[in-house]
Amino acid sequence: MPDIRCAQCGADLTVANPHQVRCPQCGLYLVLDDVTGEWISPAERDRRQREARTAQFIEESRLTVQAHLAEATVLLPDGWSIESGQIMDGSVHALTVAVPPQPGPADAATGAITGNRVIAIATLTPPSDGLGWHVEVSNRVQRVSYPLFAGGGVRAAEYATVAAAMDAAVNVLRIELSDPRNRT
Ligand SMILES: [Zn+2]
Repeated sequence: MPDIRCAQCGADLTVANPHQVRCPQCGLYLVLDDVTGEWISPAERDRRQREARTAQFIEESRLTVQAHLAEATVLLPDGWSIESGQIMDGSVHALTVAVPPQPGPADAATGAITGNRVIAIATLTPPSDGLGWHVEVSNRVQRVSYPLFAGGGVRAAEYATVAAAMDAAVNVLRIELSDPRNRT
């Protein structure tokens, strides 16, 4: 067994038994990181594996969203918009559907309409771990977000296809569009 370097503290050590390596300098047990060839603590290996899984998960979501953007766009009502991208930095990729901008709100003092605004959007998150698409609606007037539920509201709804998710998203956004509370 050749000498190895502890990647946790940089100490060089001689190893008698590669199945039980302990760094005498930092006291940590070390395992081989298959990816980098470094000897690291089990906690560090777990952290790296979690990080790699997350990165893979994000990449899979990017590919899924890309593959379904055209299909979803066809289902968009006139004047509505759709875009794909990460919901936030470091998150999965999703499709975001927005209703057409509506006039408003009225200025509190003068009653004049001050401009146009998108009153609600829906975020379609692609399947992971065998689950279906999820849909979350954000009402920007009332500043609330809610996932679409199934089974009488006990669990988040899962849609087997992007078409089914789009159908659900468009239906709920139409309700938001017609809700007079969003006109004020
Ligand atoms: Zn060490």
